[in-house]
Amino acid sequence: MINSLIWFRQDLRISDNPALINAIKNSETVTAIYIYDDSKNIRQLGGASKWWLYYALKDLEKSLKEKYNITLIYRKGSPSKIFEEIIDKVKISNIYWNRLYEPYHTERDEKIKSALKNKNIEVESFNASLLAEPWEVKNGSGNYFKVYTAFYESSLKNHKPREVLKAPNKQDKVLKIKVPSDNLEDWGLRPIKPNWAKPFYPYWKISEEAAQDRLYDFLENAIANYSDNRNFPDIEGTSKLSPYLHFGQISPHQILSVCNFHKETKGIEGIDKYISEVYWREFSYSLMFNFKHMDTKNFRPEFDNFPWDNNDKTLRAWQKGEAGYPIVDAGMRELWSTGWMHNRVRMIVGSLLTKHLLTHWSQGEEWFWNTLVDADLANNSASWQWIAGSGADASPYFRIFNPITQGEKFDPKGNYIRKWVPELKNVPDEYIHKPWEAPLLHNYVKPVISHEQGRNKALESYKKMRNQ
Ligand code: FAD
Repeated sequence: MINSLIWFRQDLRISDNPALINAIKNSETVTAIYIYDDSKNIRQLGGASKWWLYYALKDLEKSLKEKYNITLIYRKGSPSKIFEEIIDKVKISNIYWNRLYEPYHTERDEKIKSALKNKNIEVESFNASLLAEPWEVKNGSGNYFKVYTAFYESSLKNHKPREVLKAPNKQDKVLKIKVPSDNLEDWGLRPIKPNWAKPFYPYWKISEEAAQDRLYDFLENAIANYSDNRNFPDIEGTSKLSPYLHFGQISPHQILSVCNFHKETKGIEGIDKYISEVYWREFSYSLMFNFKHMDTKNFRPEFDNFPWDNNDKTLRAWQKGEAGYPIVDAGMRELWSTGWMHNRVRMIVGSLLTKHLLTHWSQGEEWFWNTLVDADLANNSASWQWIAGSGADASPYFRIFNPITQGEKFDPKGNYIRKWVPELKNVPDEYIHKPWEAPLLHNYVKPVISHEQGRNKALESYKKMRNQ
Protein backbone atom coordinates (compact mmCIF):
# COMPACT_ATOMS: atom_id res chain seq x y z
CA MET A 1 0.00 0.00 0.00
CA ILE A 2 1.51 3.32 -1.02
CA ASN A 3 0.36 6.13 1.26
CA SER A 4 1.63 9.47 0.03
CA LEU A 5 1.75 12.90 1.50
CA ILE A 6 1.66 16.01 -0.65
CA TRP A 7 3.00 19.14 0.96
CA PHE A 8 1.34 22.24 -0.52
CA ARG A 9 3.27 25.52 -0.29
CA GLN A 10 3.12 28.19 -3.02
CA ASP A 11 1.29 25.91 -5.45
CA LEU A 12 -2.27 26.24 -4.23
CA ARG A 13 -3.98 24.73 -7.26
CA ILE A 14 -5.01 21.34 -8.56
CA SER A 15 -4.39 21.99 -12.27
CA ASP A 16 -0.88 21.80 -13.71
CA ASN A 17 0.47 20.71 -10.36
CA PRO A 18 3.27 18.16 -10.88
CA ALA A 19 3.54 17.12 -7.23
CA LEU A 20 -0.19 16.48 -6.93
CA ILE A 21 -0.40 14.66 -10.25
CA ASN A 22 2.48 12.35 -9.37
CA ALA A 23 1.19 11.70 -5.88
CA ILE A 24 -2.21 10.70 -7.25
CA LYS A 25 -0.79 8.60 -10.07
CA ASN A 26 1.60 6.64 -7.88
CA SER A 27 -0.34 6.08 -4.66
CA GLU A 28 -3.36 4.32 -3.26
CA THR A 29 -4.04 7.06 -0.73
CA VAL A 30 -2.98 10.69 -0.63
CA THR A 31 -2.94 13.00 2.34
CA ALA A 32 -2.49 16.69 1.67
CA ILE A 33 -0.96 19.11 4.12
CA TYR A 34 -0.32 22.84 4.34
CA ILE A 35 2.16 23.80 7.04
CA TYR A 36 2.34 27.34 8.37
CA ASP A 37 6.02 27.42 9.20
CA ASP A 38 6.38 30.03 11.93
CA SER A 39 10.12 29.44 12.52
CA LYS A 40 12.16 32.54 13.25
CA ASN A 41 14.56 31.98 10.37
CA ILE A 42 11.77 32.01 7.78
CA ARG A 43 10.58 35.42 6.62
CA GLN A 44 7.04 35.54 7.98
CA LEU A 45 4.13 36.50 5.74
CA GLY A 46 2.89 40.07 5.73
CA GLY A 47 -0.67 40.95 6.73
CA ALA A 48 -2.13 41.24 3.22
CA SER A 49 -0.52 37.94 2.17
CA LYS A 50 -2.05 36.18 5.17
CA TRP A 51 -5.46 37.48 4.17
CA TRP A 52 -5.03 36.12 0.64
CA LEU A 53 -3.63 32.82 1.92
CA TYR A 54 -6.76 32.15 3.98
CA TYR A 55 -9.03 32.22 0.93
CA ALA A 56 -6.56 30.42 -1.32
CA LEU A 57 -6.42 27.56 1.20
CA LYS A 58 -10.20 27.40 1.53
CA ASP A 59 -10.45 27.12 -2.24
CA LEU A 60 -7.79 24.42 -2.44
CA GLU A 61 -9.41 22.48 0.40
CA LYS A 62 -12.73 22.47 -1.47
CA SER A 63 -11.23 21.41 -4.81
CA LEU A 64 -9.20 18.57 -3.28
CA LYS A 65 -12.25 17.23 -1.49
CA GLU A 66 -14.56 17.48 -4.48
CA LYS A 67 -12.22 16.02 -7.06
CA TYR A 68 -10.16 13.48 -5.14
CA ASN A 69 -11.82 13.09 -1.76
CA ILE A 70 -8.55 14.28 -0.23
CA THR A 71 -8.70 16.17 3.04
CA LEU A 72 -6.33 19.12 3.40
CA ILE A 73 -4.64 19.01 6.80
CA TYR A 74 -3.58 22.31 8.38
CA ARG A 75 -0.65 22.46 10.76
CA LYS A 76 1.39 25.25 12.25
CA GLY A 77 4.99 24.72 13.36
CA SER A 78 8.21 23.17 12.21
CA PRO A 79 7.66 21.01 9.09
CA SER A 80 10.31 18.46 10.06
CA LYS A 81 8.68 17.80 13.45
CA ILE A 82 5.23 17.62 11.92
CA PHE A 83 6.41 15.14 9.30
CA GLU A 84 7.98 12.92 11.95
CA GLU A 85 4.73 12.78 13.83
CA ILE A 86 2.55 12.06 10.78
CA ILE A 87 4.88 9.51 9.21
CA ASP A 88 4.84 7.40 12.37
CA LYS A 89 1.10 7.53 12.63
CA VAL A 90 0.04 6.96 9.04
CA LYS A 91 2.84 4.83 7.56
CA ILE A 92 3.60 7.33 4.84
CA SER A 93 6.03 5.97 2.25
CA ASN A 94 6.29 8.88 -0.21
CA ILE A 95 6.31 12.65 0.11
CA TYR A 96 5.79 15.03 -2.81
CA TRP A 97 6.20 18.77 -3.06
CA ASN A 98 6.82 21.52 -5.56
CA ARG A 99 10.02 23.45 -5.12
CA LEU A 100 10.40 26.88 -3.55
CA TYR A 101 13.37 29.09 -4.35
CA GLU A 102 13.64 31.59 -1.49
CA PRO A 103 16.94 30.98 0.33
CA TYR A 104 15.08 30.45 3.63
CA HIS A 105 13.06 27.70 2.03
CA THR A 106 15.76 26.01 -0.01
CA GLU A 107 17.98 25.61 3.08
CA ARG A 108 15.10 24.20 5.11
CA ASP A 109 13.86 21.89 2.37
CA GLU A 110 17.28 20.39 1.72
CA LYS A 111 17.57 19.44 5.39
CA ILE A 112 14.07 17.99 5.48
CA LYS A 113 14.68 16.00 2.32
CA SER A 114 17.80 14.34 3.61
CA ALA A 115 16.24 13.60 7.02
CA LEU A 116 13.26 11.94 5.33
CA LYS A 117 15.47 9.94 3.02
CA ASN A 118 17.35 8.65 6.06
CA LYS A 119 14.04 7.29 7.27
CA ASN A 120 13.54 5.50 3.94
CA ILE A 121 10.83 7.85 2.80
CA GLU A 122 10.79 8.50 -0.94
CA VAL A 123 10.85 12.24 -1.54
CA GLU A 124 10.17 13.79 -4.90
CA SER A 125 10.17 17.50 -5.67
CA PHE A 126 9.15 19.29 -8.86
CA ASN A 127 9.24 22.66 -10.54
CA ALA A 128 5.73 24.07 -10.64
CA SER A 129 6.27 27.81 -10.57
CA LEU A 130 9.06 28.78 -12.96
CA LEU A 131 9.46 28.37 -16.71
CA ALA A 132 13.05 27.24 -16.18
CA GLU A 133 14.99 26.29 -13.09
CA PRO A 134 17.06 29.24 -11.86
CA TRP A 135 20.25 27.17 -12.05
CA GLU A 136 19.64 26.30 -15.70
CA VAL A 137 19.68 29.71 -17.40
CA LYS A 138 23.36 30.57 -17.68
CA ASN A 139 25.51 32.84 -19.84
CA GLY A 140 28.46 31.70 -21.98
CA SER A 141 30.79 31.72 -18.96
CA GLY A 142 28.45 29.53 -16.93
CA ASN A 143 27.28 32.36 -14.66
CA TYR A 144 23.78 33.57 -14.02
CA PHE A 145 22.62 36.59 -16.00
CA LYS A 146 22.73 40.02 -14.41
CA VAL A 147 21.10 41.80 -17.34
CA TYR A 148 17.45 41.18 -18.10
CA THR A 149 17.55 41.36 -21.92
CA ALA A 150 20.30 38.76 -22.18
CA PHE A 151 18.47 36.55 -19.67
CA TYR A 152 15.23 36.84 -21.63
CA GLU A 153 16.81 36.11 -25.00
CA SER A 154 18.70 33.13 -23.68
CA SER A 155 15.58 31.79 -21.94
CA LEU A 156 13.52 31.97 -25.12
CA LYS A 157 16.25 30.39 -27.21
CA ASN A 158 17.52 27.67 -24.93
CA HIS A 159 14.84 26.79 -22.39
CA LYS A 160 11.55 25.78 -23.87
CA PRO A 161 9.04 25.55 -21.02
CA ARG A 162 7.34 22.22 -20.43
CA GLU A 163 3.78 21.56 -21.57
CA VAL A 164 0.90 22.15 -19.16
CA LEU A 165 0.14 18.94 -17.24
CA LYS A 166 -3.31 17.46 -17.24
CA ALA A 167 -4.88 16.81 -13.86
CA PRO A 168 -6.00 13.22 -13.29
CA ASN A 169 -9.74 12.60 -13.47
CA LYS A 170 -12.00 12.48 -10.45
CA GLN A 171 -10.70 9.78 -8.11
CA ASP A 172 -11.11 8.53 -4.60
CA LYS A 173 -7.80 8.88 -2.76
CA VAL A 174 -9.20 8.98 0.73
CA LEU A 175 -7.04 7.99 3.66
CA LYS A 176 -9.02 6.15 6.32
CA ILE A 177 -6.79 7.12 9.25
CA LYS A 178 -7.55 10.51 10.69
CA VAL A 179 -4.59 12.86 10.79
CA PRO A 180 -4.95 15.69 13.31
CA SER A 181 -5.44 19.10 11.76
CA ASP A 182 -5.50 22.63 13.14
CA ASN A 183 -8.55 24.70 12.60
CA LEU A 184 -7.66 27.24 9.91
CA GLU A 185 -9.74 29.86 11.69
CA ASP A 186 -7.37 29.68 14.68
CA TRP A 187 -4.40 30.89 12.65
CA GLY A 188 -5.72 34.45 12.66
CA LEU A 189 -4.97 34.97 8.99
CA ARG A 190 -7.80 37.45 8.52
CA PRO A 191 -7.68 40.70 10.46
CA ILE A 192 -10.61 41.26 12.79
CA LYS A 193 -10.17 44.39 14.86
CA PRO A 194 -9.48 46.55 13.00
CA ASN A 195 -10.54 44.78 9.85
CA TRP A 196 -8.26 46.72 7.52
CA ALA A 197 -8.86 44.17 4.74
CA LYS A 198 -12.57 45.03 4.45
CA PRO A 199 -12.06 47.30 1.40
CA PHE A 200 -10.13 44.52 -0.41
CA TYR A 201 -13.15 42.29 -0.98
CA PRO A 202 -14.71 44.00 -4.03
CA TYR A 203 -11.39 43.82 -5.87
CA TRP A 204 -10.55 40.16 -5.63
CA LYS A 205 -12.02 36.73 -6.14
CA ILE A 206 -9.51 34.35 -4.65
CA SER A 207 -9.64 30.96 -6.30
CA GLU A 208 -7.93 28.89 -8.94
CA GLU A 209 -10.94 29.31 -11.20
CA ALA A 210 -10.90 33.09 -10.70
CA ALA A 211 -7.25 33.17 -11.79
CA GLN A 212 -8.09 31.37 -15.01
CA ASP A 213 -11.12 33.61 -15.62
CA ARG A 214 -8.96 36.66 -15.09
CA LEU A 215 -6.43 35.43 -17.64
CA TYR A 216 -9.13 34.77 -20.26
CA ASP A 217 -10.79 38.08 -19.53
CA PHE A 218 -7.48 39.91 -19.87
CA LEU A 219 -6.74 38.21 -23.19
CA GLU A 220 -10.20 39.00 -24.47
CA ASN A 221 -10.33 42.62 -23.40
CA ALA A 222 -6.92 44.10 -22.69
CA ILE A 223 -4.04 42.26 -24.34
CA ALA A 224 -4.34 43.98 -27.72
CA ASN A 225 -3.47 47.33 -26.12
CA TYR A 226 -1.25 45.98 -23.36
CA SER A 227 1.98 47.49 -24.69
CA ASP A 228 0.54 51.01 -24.47
CA ASN A 229 -2.03 50.75 -21.71
CA ARG A 230 0.15 48.92 -19.19
CA ASN A 231 1.68 52.24 -18.17
CA PHE A 232 -1.57 54.04 -17.41
CA PRO A 233 -2.85 53.36 -13.92
CA ASP A 234 -6.42 54.55 -14.56
CA ILE A 235 -6.88 51.89 -17.26
CA GLU A 236 -7.48 48.20 -16.50
CA GLY A 237 -4.58 47.46 -18.81
CA THR A 238 -2.68 44.70 -16.98
CA SER A 239 -3.65 41.19 -15.94
CA LYS A 240 -3.53 41.59 -12.13
CA LEU A 241 -2.43 37.97 -11.98
CA SER A 242 0.51 38.68 -9.66
CA PRO A 243 -1.06 37.42 -6.40
CA TYR A 244 -2.36 34.28 -8.13
CA LEU A 245 1.11 33.65 -9.54
CA HIS A 246 2.71 34.19 -6.17
CA PHE A 247 0.43 31.73 -4.39
CA GLY A 248 0.57 29.32 -7.31
CA GLN A 249 -3.13 29.48 -8.11
CA ILE A 250 -2.05 29.71 -11.73
CA SER A 251 1.29 28.63 -13.19
CA PRO A 252 3.42 30.58 -15.66
CA HIS A 253 3.20 27.50 -17.88
CA GLN A 254 -0.58 27.84 -18.02
CA ILE A 255 -0.24 31.54 -18.80
CA LEU A 256 2.27 30.91 -21.56
CA SER A 257 0.30 28.09 -23.07
CA VAL A 258 -2.95 30.10 -23.21
CA CYS A 259 -1.08 33.15 -24.55
CA ASN A 260 0.59 31.12 -27.29
CA PHE A 261 -2.71 29.56 -28.27
CA HIS A 262 -4.30 33.02 -28.56
CA LYS A 263 -1.35 34.25 -30.54
CA GLU A 264 -1.66 31.41 -33.05
CA THR A 265 -5.42 31.58 -33.37
CA LYS A 266 -6.05 35.32 -33.09
CA GLY A 267 -2.63 36.84 -33.77
CA ILE A 268 -3.28 39.24 -30.97
CA GLU A 269 -0.89 42.09 -30.46
CA GLY A 270 0.59 42.67 -27.05
CA ILE A 271 1.19 38.99 -26.30
CA ASP A 272 4.96 39.11 -26.74
CA LYS A 273 5.20 42.16 -24.53
CA TYR A 274 3.10 40.44 -21.91
CA ILE A 275 5.21 37.28 -22.05
CA SER A 276 8.34 39.41 -21.68
CA GLU A 277 6.89 40.81 -18.44
CA VAL A 278 6.26 37.31 -17.15
CA TYR A 279 9.97 36.72 -17.80
CA TRP A 280 10.84 39.64 -15.51
CA ARG A 281 9.49 37.44 -12.78
CA GLU A 282 11.76 34.61 -13.95
CA PHE A 283 14.70 37.03 -13.94
CA SER A 284 13.95 38.11 -10.35
CA TYR A 285 13.87 34.46 -9.27
CA SER A 286 17.15 33.77 -11.01
CA LEU A 287 18.75 36.72 -9.20
CA MET A 288 17.32 35.72 -5.84
CA PHE A 289 18.32 32.09 -6.20
CA ASN A 290 21.86 32.82 -7.32
CA PHE A 291 22.63 35.90 -5.25
CA LYS A 292 20.71 34.79 -2.10
CA HIS A 293 19.31 37.11 0.54
CA MET A 294 18.53 39.83 -1.96
CA ASP A 295 15.93 41.10 0.50
CA THR A 296 18.64 42.13 2.96
CA LYS A 297 21.84 42.69 0.97
CA ASN A 298 22.65 45.24 -1.73
CA PHE A 299 23.24 43.50 -5.03
CA ARG A 300 25.82 46.22 -5.81
CA PRO A 301 28.16 46.29 -2.81
CA GLU A 302 29.09 49.96 -3.39
CA PHE A 303 25.64 50.78 -2.03
CA ASP A 304 26.76 49.47 1.38
CA ASN A 305 28.37 52.92 1.72
CA PHE A 306 25.41 54.94 0.54
CA PRO A 307 24.61 57.80 2.95
CA TRP A 308 20.91 57.05 3.53
CA ASP A 309 19.05 59.56 5.63
CA ASN A 310 16.19 57.52 7.10
CA ASN A 311 13.52 59.70 8.62
CA ASP A 312 10.47 58.24 10.39
CA LYS A 313 8.28 61.26 9.79
CA THR A 314 8.64 61.34 6.02
CA LEU A 315 8.43 57.53 5.85
CA ARG A 316 5.13 57.67 7.70
CA ALA A 317 3.81 60.41 5.36
CA TRP A 318 4.79 58.26 2.37
CA GLN A 319 3.13 55.16 3.86
CA LYS A 320 -0.10 57.00 4.63
CA GLY A 321 -0.39 58.54 1.17
CA GLU A 322 0.32 62.00 2.50
CA ALA A 323 3.61 62.81 0.82
CA GLY A 324 2.03 65.75 -1.00
CA TYR A 325 2.64 64.47 -4.54
CA PRO A 326 -0.78 63.39 -5.82
CA ILE A 327 0.40 60.47 -8.00
CA VAL A 328 2.46 59.08 -5.12
CA ASP A 329 -0.34 59.51 -2.61
CA ALA A 330 -2.84 57.91 -5.00
CA GLY A 331 -0.58 54.87 -5.36
CA MET A 332 -0.04 54.45 -1.63
CA ARG A 333 -3.78 54.70 -1.03
CA GLU A 334 -4.56 52.26 -3.82
CA LEU A 335 -2.19 49.87 -2.07
CA TRP A 336 -3.83 50.36 1.32
CA SER A 337 -7.34 49.97 -0.09
CA THR A 338 -6.82 47.03 -2.45
CA GLY A 339 -3.56 45.27 -1.51
CA TRP A 340 -2.18 45.99 -4.97
CA MET A 341 -0.60 48.92 -6.81
CA HIS A 342 -0.06 49.56 -10.49
CA ASN A 343 3.50 48.83 -11.67
CA ARG A 344 4.17 52.34 -13.06
CA VAL A 345 3.07 53.84 -9.76
CA ARG A 346 5.16 51.33 -7.77
CA MET A 347 8.16 52.75 -9.62
CA ILE A 348 7.18 56.37 -8.94
CA VAL A 349 6.54 55.83 -5.20
CA GLY A 350 9.73 53.77 -4.91
CA SER A 351 11.78 56.47 -6.56
CA LEU A 352 10.41 59.18 -4.27
CA LEU A 353 11.19 57.13 -1.18
CA THR A 354 14.69 56.04 -2.08
CA LYS A 355 15.83 59.15 -3.93
CA HIS A 356 14.04 62.33 -2.82
CA LEU A 357 13.65 61.04 0.73
CA LEU A 358 16.93 59.11 0.84
CA THR A 359 15.23 56.28 2.69
CA HIS A 360 16.86 52.86 2.50
CA TRP A 361 15.07 50.66 -0.03
CA SER A 362 14.53 48.00 2.62
CA GLN A 363 11.99 50.27 4.35
CA GLY A 364 9.91 50.38 1.20
CA GLU A 365 10.41 46.66 0.65
CA GLU A 366 9.16 45.98 4.17
CA TRP A 367 6.06 48.16 3.75
CA PHE A 368 5.20 46.48 0.45
CA TRP A 369 5.88 43.08 2.01
CA ASN A 370 3.22 43.78 4.62
CA THR A 371 0.65 45.49 2.45
CA LEU A 372 0.76 43.81 -0.98
CA VAL A 373 -1.38 40.77 -1.68
CA ASP A 374 1.23 39.81 -4.29
CA ALA A 375 4.21 40.31 -1.92
CA ASP A 376 6.88 38.08 -3.35
CA LEU A 377 10.41 37.89 -2.04
CA ALA A 378 12.04 37.69 -5.46
CA ASN A 379 9.96 40.30 -7.28
CA ASN A 380 9.74 42.69 -4.37
CA SER A 381 13.40 42.76 -3.41
CA ALA A 382 14.64 42.75 -7.03
CA SER A 383 12.26 45.59 -7.91
CA TRP A 384 13.12 47.68 -4.86
CA GLN A 385 16.80 47.29 -5.55
CA TRP A 386 16.16 48.06 -9.21
CA ILE A 387 14.42 51.32 -8.38
CA ALA A 388 16.99 52.27 -5.72
CA GLY A 389 19.89 51.69 -8.12
CA SER A 390 21.51 49.02 -5.97
CA GLY A 391 20.14 46.08 -7.96
CA ALA A 392 21.07 44.06 -11.02
CA ASP A 393 20.40 45.80 -14.34
CA ALA A 394 19.07 48.62 -12.18
CA SER A 395 17.75 51.97 -13.14
CA PRO A 396 20.85 54.17 -12.52
CA TYR A 397 20.70 56.08 -9.26
CA PHE A 398 21.08 59.44 -11.03
CA ARG A 399 17.92 58.81 -13.07
CA ILE A 400 15.40 60.38 -10.73
CA PHE A 401 11.72 60.31 -11.53
CA ASN A 402 10.02 63.66 -11.34
CA PRO A 403 6.73 62.83 -9.56
CA ILE A 404 4.98 65.77 -11.24
CA THR A 405 5.90 65.02 -14.84
CA GLN A 406 5.43 61.28 -14.29
CA GLY A 407 1.88 62.06 -13.17
CA GLU A 408 1.30 64.37 -16.14
CA LYS A 409 2.55 61.71 -18.53
CA PHE A 410 0.82 58.64 -17.15
CA ASP A 411 -2.32 60.08 -15.60
CA PRO A 412 -2.84 63.10 -17.86
CA LYS A 413 -6.41 63.81 -16.83
CA GLY A 414 -5.81 62.91 -13.21
CA ASN A 415 -8.49 60.18 -13.23
CA TYR A 416 -6.36 57.84 -11.14
CA ILE A 417 -5.56 60.59 -8.67
CA ARG A 418 -9.18 61.63 -8.31
CA LYS A 419 -10.19 58.03 -7.66
CA TRP A 420 -7.78 57.51 -4.78
CA VAL A 421 -7.34 61.05 -3.47
CA PRO A 422 -10.90 62.37 -3.34
CA GLU A 423 -9.77 65.59 -1.64
CA LEU A 424 -8.43 66.60 -5.06
CA LYS A 425 -11.48 65.68 -7.06
CA ASN A 426 -12.40 69.29 -7.93
CA VAL A 427 -8.89 70.53 -8.70
CA PRO A 428 -8.65 71.47 -12.41
CA ASP A 429 -6.62 69.19 -14.67
CA GLU A 430 -3.79 71.68 -15.05
CA TYR A 431 -3.12 71.68 -11.28
CA ILE A 432 -3.99 68.09 -10.42
CA HIS A 433 -0.31 67.05 -10.29
CA LYS A 434 0.83 70.17 -8.43
CA PRO A 435 -2.15 71.36 -6.40
CA TRP A 436 0.05 73.73 -4.40
CA GLU A 437 0.16 75.98 -7.48
CA ALA A 438 -3.62 76.20 -7.87
CA PRO A 439 -4.93 79.76 -7.42
CA LEU A 440 -7.80 78.68 -5.18
CA LEU A 441 -7.08 77.77 -1.58
CA HIS A 442 -7.31 74.13 -0.59
CA ASN A 443 -5.97 72.10 2.29
CA TYR A 444 -4.01 69.46 0.48
CA VAL A 445 -0.71 68.56 2.17
CA LYS A 446 2.39 70.26 0.79
CA PRO A 447 5.12 68.01 -0.72
CA VAL A 448 7.42 66.49 1.89
CA ILE A 449 10.28 67.91 -0.13
CA SER A 450 10.34 69.91 -3.37
CA HIS A 451 11.35 67.97 -6.44
CA GLU A 452 14.42 70.15 -7.04
CA GLN A 453 15.63 69.89 -3.47
CA GLY A 454 15.04 66.14 -3.33
CA ARG A 455 16.77 65.61 -6.64
CA ASN A 456 19.83 67.64 -5.62
CA LYS A 457 20.12 65.88 -2.27
CA ALA A 458 19.92 62.52 -3.99
CA LEU A 459 22.59 63.42 -6.52
CA GLU A 460 24.90 64.75 -3.80
CA SER A 461 24.50 61.53 -1.81
CA TYR A 462 25.25 59.50 -4.90
CA LYS A 463 28.40 61.55 -5.48
CA LYS A 464 29.48 60.94 -1.87
CA MET A 465 29.07 57.21 -2.31
CA ARG A 466 31.06 57.25 -5.56
CA ASN A 467 33.87 59.24 -3.94
CA GLN A 468 34.30 56.76 -1.13
P1 FAD B 1 1.15 42.33 -15.67
O1 FAD B 1 1.63 43.55 -16.36
O2 FAD B 1 -0.14 41.79 -16.07
O3 FAD B 1 2.31 41.24 -15.81
C1 FAD B 1 2.07 39.83 -15.72
C2 FAD B 1 2.98 39.21 -14.70
O4 FAD B 1 4.34 39.42 -15.03
C3 FAD B 1 2.83 39.80 -13.30
O5 FAD B 1 1.75 39.25 -12.62
C4 FAD B 1 4.18 39.47 -12.68
O6 FAD B 1 4.22 38.16 -12.19
C5 FAD B 1 5.13 39.59 -13.86
N1 FAD B 1 5.70 40.94 -13.87
C6 FAD B 1 5.24 42.04 -14.49
N2 FAD B 1 6.07 43.09 -14.29
C7 FAD B 1 7.08 42.64 -13.51
C8 FAD B 1 8.25 43.23 -12.95
N3 FAD B 1 8.58 44.50 -13.19
N4 FAD B 1 9.06 42.47 -12.20
C9 FAD B 1 8.77 41.16 -11.97
N5 FAD B 1 7.68 40.55 -12.47
C10 FAD B 1 6.84 41.27 -13.23
N6 FAD B 1 5.60 42.02 -8.32
C11 FAD B 1 5.18 41.00 -7.55
O7 FAD B 1 4.63 40.02 -8.08
N7 FAD B 1 5.36 41.01 -6.20
C12 FAD B 1 5.97 42.05 -5.55
O8 FAD B 1 6.15 41.99 -4.33
C13 FAD B 1 6.38 43.16 -6.34
N8 FAD B 1 6.95 44.24 -5.76
C14 FAD B 1 7.34 45.31 -6.54
C15 FAD B 1 7.93 46.43 -5.95
C16 FAD B 1 8.33 47.51 -6.71
C17 FAD B 1 8.99 48.71 -6.05
C18 FAD B 1 8.12 47.50 -8.10
C19 FAD B 1 8.55 48.67 -8.95
C20 FAD B 1 7.55 46.40 -8.72
C21 FAD B 1 7.16 45.29 -7.95
N9 FAD B 1 6.57 44.14 -8.55
C22 FAD B 1 6.19 43.11 -7.76
C23 FAD B 1 6.54 44.01 -10.02
C24 FAD B 1 5.25 44.49 -10.70
O9 FAD B 1 4.90 45.77 -10.24
C25 FAD B 1 4.06 43.55 -10.48
O10 FAD B 1 4.43 42.23 -10.78
C26 FAD B 1 2.89 43.94 -11.39
O11 FAD B 1 2.50 45.27 -11.14
C27 FAD B 1 1.74 43.00 -11.13
O12 FAD B 1 0.61 43.41 -11.84
P2 FAD B 1 0.03 42.54 -13.02
O13 FAD B 1 -0.13 41.13 -12.61
O14 FAD B 1 -1.18 43.24 -13.50
O15 FAD B 1 1.18 42.66 -14.11
